[in-house]
Amino acid sequence: MKILDGKCRSCRSDDLSVILDLGQQPLANSLPENADTNEKTYPLTFALCGNCSLYQILESIPPEELFSNYLYRSAFSDAMQAHVSGLVSRLIGERRLGADSFVMEVASNDGYLLKHYIARGVPVLGIEPAENIADIAIKEHGVKTEVEFFEVTTAKYFYDKYGAADVLHAHNVFAHSPDPVGFLSAVRKVLKPDGVAVIEAPYVLDLIELCAFDTIYHEHYSYLSVVAVHYMADRAGLALIDVERTPIHGGSILYTIAHQGTAANGRVIDFLDYEREIGLGTLAYAQNFSQRVQNLCRELEKHLLNRARKNEVVVAYGASAKGSTLLNYLGDAARKLSFVVDRSPLKQGRYMPGIGVPIKPVESLLEEQPEAAVLLSWNFEREIARQQRVYLERGGRFIVPVPKLREVTLASLD
Ligand SMILES: [Zn+2]
Repeated sequence: MKILDGKCRSCRSDDLSVILDLGQQPLANSLPENADTNEKTYPLTFALCGNCSLYQILESIPPEELFSNYLYRSAFSDAMQAHVSGLVSRLIGERRLGADSFVMEVASNDGYLLKHYIARGVPVLGIEPAENIADIAIKEHGVKTEVEFFEVTTAKYFYDKYGAADVLHAHNVFAHSPDPVGFLSAVRKVLKPDGVAVIEAPYVLDLIELCAFDTIYHEHYSYLSVVAVHYMADRAGLALIDVERTPIHGGSILYTIAHQGTAANGRVIDFLDYEREIGLGTLAYAQNFSQRVQNLCRELEKHLLNRARKNEVVVAYGASAKGSTLLNYLGDAARKLSFVVDRSPLKQGRYMPGIGVPIKPVESLLEEQPEAAVLLSWNFEREIARQQRVYLERGGRFIVPVPKLREVTLASLD
């Protein structure tokens, strides 16, 4: 697979406009074990297709390179567990699933979703490329799991071995496929004639409105809208028949996709109309986003350099993938950070990719009481500010970078 082929990953048109050039970026989840900043970097370019309205990055790093070394799977929150268990109950009821039915999930992780089907007596198959994670699904949750990527060739193998599915789940994985139409073609191969695929992915509208450009990284090839998915489904010989907004990952959409011949419901039509009305897929809309991102980063850069000039100690909170995008885009201003704190022991002792800043336990905030901490996990602002009340009481402050630069002090907490 080429890193760059200059064509839209959905419609193959070459009508691509660069919206945001995020420069050379390391792989956001590859936290190195030493401060060597000469690790491999790749360009990261956010673009819009003028033909099918798909937002995407232009680069395609092979998934094997991105995901084979996946150390860090986030634990599933209670909110996520409630979300998937409610969804499973609804699908079992609506589609009358039982012991004769069959459910598949792509990127089934540790079985967090499929275990709810098993509890209700519905046979399942999980497909998960990370062997250590698949092992947990099999041993701890009794979820039959194949260690594989999901693509047209493996879909044929699953179909031949296990038969067709009544429901196929794909949560937070579709945008990680370098070839989304190929992914849907694979879905078509394994769906029963009246089966449905339930696909959940972050909504690009929320990304743009929130200015959350830091969720752009090499693992996320596509940034989906209803218009773009509607088009892709059609190209793959399928039909988008229902959509629903969900709060997952800061704003996602649950797409229901079936074989062609099933009509789209009113919600799909409403979303298509709405996205066209606000101009979501237009260059003007995209360029406004780009301008906001550049303004925000210039402001943050100035802020950090000012503090550095005064010899203040500034750190960051949250060694997340999106932190990596933001810090590497900032470049030299980010290298002035003394350290990054993170709650995960797996990340502590390693370094932020690209900028070589060490990752320490969260306790370091109190031990070293830096003047300010950039909140890279800005989506958990309230939770983190509450947990770190003592740091704020002692005069510490959080710098929230997104959607707008502002500071959180003890005063703003009360
Ligand atoms: Zn396109």
